[in-house]
Amino acid sequence: MTNLVSFPSGDVTYYFNSPVSALENYYGSRDIILVTDSNIAAHYPQLLSNYKHLIIPAGEHSKTPATIQNLAERLITLQVSRKSMLVGIGGGVVTDITGFLASVYMRGIALGFIPTTLLGMVDASIGGKNGVNLGLHKNMLGTILQPEFILFDTAFLTTLPDEEWSNGFAEIVKYACLFDRALFEELEQHNVDFYKQNTAALAALVKTCADWKNKTVIADEHESGQRKLLNFGHTAAHAIENLYEISHGKAVAIGMMIAARLSEEINKTSPSITQRLAKMLHQYGLPTTYPIDVEKAMALLKMDKKRNNDSIDYILLEGLGNATITPLSFLTLEKAIASCAQ
Ligand code: ADP
Ligand code: ZN
Repeated sequence: MTNLVSFPSGDVTYYFNSPVSALENYYGSRDIILVTDSNIAAHYPQLLSNYKHLIIPAGEHSKTPATIQNLAERLITLQVSRKSMLVGIGGGVVTDITGFLASVYMRGIALGFIPTTLLGMVDASIGGKNGVNLGLHKNMLGTILQPEFILFDTAFLTTLPDEEWSNGFAEIVKYACLFDRALFEELEQHNVDFYKQNTAALAALVKTCADWKNKTVIADEHESGQRKLLNFGHTAAHAIENLYEISHGKAVAIGMMIAARLSEEINKTSPSITQRLAKMLHQYGLPTTYPIDVEKAMALLKMDKKRNNDSIDYILLEGLGNATITPLSFLTLEKAIASCAQ
């Protein structure tokens, strides 16, 4: 299925449920340079053999300005002109790097994405944000550039490690909590194995989540309002990720539990929502608690850019499928973090 989605800064063609081999049919006449990482290159060698390609070492440590410089120099060696198109095939690391590279190489060249992780398909490849890290400062250098296309081929997920499936599901659960009660109820009925075995259900799930992200970004591409909702579970998660070696999905799962507890206290949501969320997170291989050092976490949160004076803007639920941005005192936040710090 092909959809054209119009963002304020440009139109993106979405090829849902499309085999990667169709790239040739869609863009065969263009000079394409694939950008991917060492894991994808090892799993899918035949894919790369048909195209000029650049391979980066897999992992977050590749997300540096030095990688951008190195890749740009390799593009010059390959005599890549502004008429060419860079296509990032990989997880969030690859699409972030490729997006940034495409936005600065010769002041901008065409871009496409083929996400190969569940997280990439439902979140990272969508919305136009890209970036690299500067030391500990995540995504400190980056731009917003919408790709020309995103191609979704869930066949890539057959080689995805289990931990990466759970990472993707953390974001999927996030969309359900924020926007979509029916999706929450669907997820309650299933588990990761169900979606691994039912490709139609998996493809539909990816499309549902991509649509939610598209809708949110179209309304607020530069994150001045509604796009902030996508940070549900992420404020505490970023603090936890800074302190511990923990995957993004696990940190977000714990962050969503903290936010659900806060929603009970501030917005008087039913405790049953928190209980159902906890059960679902376990069902999808995700934790609900972690031995967080509350003092250290609070010290980090007090430096968060969403901070006001004695409070911080926090995404809370008003009900299942419905969320708000609420200023929260640090004392209230500290109590909620302590309740998940086991
Ligand atoms: P994310 O999409 O979670 O932001 P990464 O780009 O870091 O993150 O990808 C997560 C890991 O999964 C990386 O080690 C990457 O090389 C690997 N990976 C990505 N896609 C696949 C795939 N389809 N099969 C196997 N491994 C993959
Ligand atoms: Zn996230």
